[in-house]
Amino acid sequence: MYKKYIPLAFLILAVFALMRWGFLRGNEAPRENTEKLQVAASFYPLYFFAQEIGGDRAEVFTVTPAGAEPHEYEPTAWDISRIYGSDFLVVNGNGLEPWLQNIQKNLSAGKTKIIIVGEGLAVRSFSEEEVIDPHVWLSPRLASEMAEKIKEEFIAQNPEHVAVYEANAEILNGKLGALDEEYSTKLSECSQKSIVTAHAAFGYLAVEYGLAQVAVTGISPDIEPSQQELAKIVDFARQYDIRYIFFETLVSPKLAEVLAREVGAKTLVLNPLEGLTLEEIRAGKDYFTEMKTNLNNLKIALECK
Ligand SMILES: [Zn+2]
Repeated sequence: MYKKYIPLAFLILAVFALMRWGFLRGNEAPRENTEKLQVAASFYPLYFFAQEIGGDRAEVFTVTPAGAEPHEYEPTAWDISRIYGSDFLVVNGNGLEPWLQNIQKNLSAGKTKIIIVGEGLAVRSFSEEEVIDPHVWLSPRLASEMAEKIKEEFIAQNPEHVAVYEANAEILNGKLGALDEEYSTKLSECSQKSIVTAHAAFGYLAVEYGLAQVAVTGISPDIEPSQQELAKIVDFARQYDIRYIFFETLVSPKLAEVLAREVGAKTLVLNPLEGLTLEEIRAGKDYFTEMKTNLNNLKIALECK
């Protein structure tokens, strides 16, 4: 008669074992268990770069989950406990992570180091508002500098595997260099220079390749335009003969569609890489596939040779 209780007993034991494992990982001595560095990254591109550099020597977790964008994301208690359990936390900085200040205060006594990889790279301010534009990862050249800072932290934390991190970072930087070349070449002969984007994420990319960005919403997708601002964009689109209005995958395309109808344009995706959806991840998409799709869509919109 005790037989039927045996699976239940095992289940309870297993749950306790898992809880204890999770507890240990969240506090001390994760190294003995896994030998992998525990890395937290605030959002997708930093997660991707850390994963590429850490390879199988790292377990990387992204604070902003799939399908969400980082500007307004509030970490859950679970996210925060995972951050505390990490060896280091990689953030963009420059206002992209509204929760960073709180975490910084609470982490000062803890063991998790914070690496702000966008610091010193974000030099543009957004329009007249004097708000720093945080979107540096969309310039492959600046992304490469971010990757360098992530690599340095891996080496500092785990110097015995310096060769692995150097080799992985070299592959990543090679790909970023090739992407930069491809953008420069393919955007060099276009009849249009202006892009109308959903939110103002493409400032660094625009500067890098000689484009001009006009954004429908502000520096964050949540800052909606006034009627007056919308009217200005419509005027701009008509004056510069804009044929395509860009929209993003993580925010509603409604505003872009309304604008496109108003000026007789079509819509196309320009992905700010602030996060991938679960479907995109399952379909094998990553920073490079999306940056290449962005380039193809830019070539269409800008009528490049
Ligand atoms: Zn953004």
